[in-house]
Amino acid sequence: MRASEIRALFAVANRPEVVSLAGGMPFLDGLPLETISETMARLIATKGTSALQYGSGQGHEELRERILDVVRLEGIECHPDDVVVTTGSQQALDLVTRIFIDPGDVVVAEAPSYVGALGVFRSYQAEVVHVPLDEHGLVPEALETTLADLARTGRRVKLLYTVPNFHNPAGVTLSAERRPRVLEIARRYGVLVIEDNPYGLLGFDGQTLPALRSLDDDGVLYLGSFSKTFAPGLRVGWVIAPHAVREKLVLASESAILCPSNASQMAISSYLDTCDWKAQIKQFRELYRERRDAMIGALAEHLPAASWTVPDGGFYTWVRLPPGLDARSMLPRAVTARVAYVPGTAFYADGTGSDHVRLSFCYPTPDRIREGVRRLSGVVNSEREL
Ligand code: PMP
Repeated sequence: MRASEIRALFAVANRPEVVSLAGGMPFLDGLPLETISETMARLIATKGTSALQYGSGQGHEELRERILDVVRLEGIECHPDDVVVTTGSQQALDLVTRIFIDPGDVVVAEAPSYVGALGVFRSYQAEVVHVPLDEHGLVPEALETTLADLARTGRRVKLLYTVPNFHNPAGVTLSAERRPRVLEIARRYGVLVIEDNPYGLLGFDGQTLPALRSLDDDGVLYLGSFSKTFAPGLRVGWVIAPHAVREKLVLASESAILCPSNASQMAISSYLDTCDWKAQIKQFRELYRERRDAMIGALAEHLPAASWTVPDGGFYTWVRLPPGLDARSMLPRAVTARVAYVPGTAFYADGTGSDHVRLSFCYPTPDRIREGVRRLSGVVNSEREL
């Protein structure tokens, strides 16, 4: 195991004078805190002894039923028994990897990939083989070639890890046209797909693409989370898995944590019951869209020598620095100039990616985003003069 580059950054990036375009913290000020606090008080008053008690390893049944309403928005039809509640989708990644991976097995993942997933894969000694993505997401032809090469050399590929919507860190979305192709290729090579989808409902134009899981019941493990559409502090996510996998997931989760927090799960059930959560998601979409616009506008104004993805949802844009710059060695100078980002190297298992940075637009206000990009352009420009 290794310290994540992002965790190491947090201490400096969180200083108030630094504009942090680094972390992926959702902006929670818009949540109806008073209503949530009343809901929670009522929960403890009326169901306190079960909310504060141990619960089921698979997760609270009422919440598993409510989760079906959430995933139906992405075209998924399943049964509450197919759902396993986890402590955030991060724990789901850990459980899935623990079940499937023996040391030396291959996980195929996008280049770049979510840093937290790479950390999990590494901790179980999987070998990550990256497959390129472009502005339409994972490239099916490249996936096919990679899987064919791996098959030829006799490597065991167990999992394909993908973030199809509003990718972390690349900001791109797997096109509707590519979705069945990716599933068909994975199926042909006997590879299970992990569909990690915490951002799927945060599309800025209000459109939600059908989940991979909605196109394939038994070849996909779908990972969902309330972290980006409600509150990460409650630490509630879930997996939708075929029956045989689901049983193993519950056993693995019980051995790790006994059960997910009943209090958190019941708080989320009450929130989903009593608050207009769809309106809340709409509000988040509008908020993040404004921030995305601020980020893209500022990049065009201040960093024309760079290039970047324009995300249709989520939290991140992926910026290619002007030629010759190294995101990692530039970072201390950026922090001195009071702006933080995550170097692209965090998102590759092989340490490449130093020509990119991930910029997050979720947490700072639009004005702070513009100021952060202006500061970053100062750093980039002085770096180019070196
Ligand atoms: N997957 C992706 C792609 C993420 O961006 C994150 C959070 N940054 C997670 C999983 C983990 O989220 P959580 O554990 O809060 O559900």
